[in-house]
Amino acid sequence: MHLFYLPAASQNVKNFNKHALVDLIRFAGRGVARTDIAQELGLTRASVTIIINNLIESGIILETESRSTRSGRPPVVLDINPKAGLAAAIDMGATHLSVALGDFSAHILEEMEQPFRIADGPDRCLEESYRALRSVLEKRGLQIKDLSAVGLSVPGPVITDTGTVMAPPIMPGWDRFPIRATLENLWELPVALNNDANFGALGEWVYGAGRGEKNLAFIKVGSGIGAGLIINRQIFGGTTGSAGEIGHLTIDENGPLCSCGNRGCLEAFAGGHAIELQAQKLIESGKRTLLSESNVKKITVREVAEAARRGDLAAQEILHRSGTFIGIAVAGLINLVNPSVVIIGGGVAEVGELLTAPIRKVVRERSLRAAEHAVKITTAMLGRRSTLIGAMVQATNVAIHTMIERKPAWTKADAKPKQLMGNHNNKEVVISAEETKTLQTSNSIK
Ligand SMILES: [Zn+2]
Repeated sequence: MHLFYLPAASQNVKNFNKHALVDLIRFAGRGVARTDIAQELGLTRASVTIIINNLIESGIILETESRSTRSGRPPVVLDINPKAGLAAAIDMGATHLSVALGDFSAHILEEMEQPFRIADGPDRCLEESYRALRSVLEKRGLQIKDLSAVGLSVPGPVITDTGTVMAPPIMPGWDRFPIRATLENLWELPVALNNDANFGALGEWVYGAGRGEKNLAFIKVGSGIGAGLIINRQIFGGTTGSAGEIGHLTIDENGPLCSCGNRGCLEAFAGGHAIELQAQKLIESGKRTLLSESNVKKITVREVAEAARRGDLAAQEILHRSGTFIGIAVAGLINLVNPSVVIIGGGVAEVGELLTAPIRKVVRERSLRAAEHAVKITTAMLGRRSTLIGAMVQATNVAIHTMIERKPAWTKADAKPKQLMGNHNNKEVVISAEETKTLQTSNSIK
């Protein structure tokens, strides 16, 4: 197995083996024996010993008993020291805000979710997120300064170099707002910013339905629709970070108006908002449906899903149609990218087979056999939490690799906001794995 870490341009190449070794351990899930490390990294035992001793001394890794279930005395393995530090994840959705506190193993220690409106704009939303983060920390008697990094997910096209979103369809007021710089300045911490679909892909890849896969697509079906792509075991952001905007593929040029201003995008046919609009129309039409019990103005996807589960044919039809449209786009994506797994996640995907069955059917009909025969279509294993967990994974990536570099800018005592505003590329902390065995055995998040 070869896992390797790609250092950011600003980072010290001489620490490359340290970074690679730490990632090898992190994504092995059950710890790695010393003897395996030299082999995996192609290093001599002597140099591995020096690196390991150094990492143990700095408290980043520790020796522990293997959690494998083989009989006999458990072998001693190396694992991440979960107590080496704390990180936080914030998932800003269109209508929900989730915040979590985690240790360096990306295990969630505290978590909360509350209603939210991304359309309220950056000032109010960032203030609310800050308040939510503080209340999560307070449960453990902690403060912001006790964190090493924060992962922040937003429901819009992120420009990773600048830490902003550009012309985000469902985030009015956020266009080019300096999200990352503002928070890093305020919190004096590295902030890893990405969009919900990319973090969802990362979460499912490390701890969910995509463990160990080389190429995967995560389709986030929430109020909007987006895709996160992992290609060759790396998040594929494209040139500016906005790859995967599958929700704005045109399905019908004369179709309904989309939040992006175009007509007939996939999102306008099949996203959560589109599902709710169809449910409203259904109720108003006076047809027999369980949905008539709901408040027509406030109908939610969850209510549509619940009615469908209870056997309501009209509700099932809405979800079936949504799945069919998503299937058309996914079939194209499969032809283009040839992934081994497509994971359907986000709030709407919680309806499960009602949505995935039509997607599978359309993919069978429309994808080229060469790509279609190799792909598995499944629902997210982490449910609504794929994105939050992915943001936590990336926050711990940044925290641990920053700790290895021991950048003085991040030590609390002499943290200077000016330095924090710089263009350090914490989003460049990318993990790549050449082989998959250990990832498949990785333990799931608590
Ligand atoms: Zn659109």
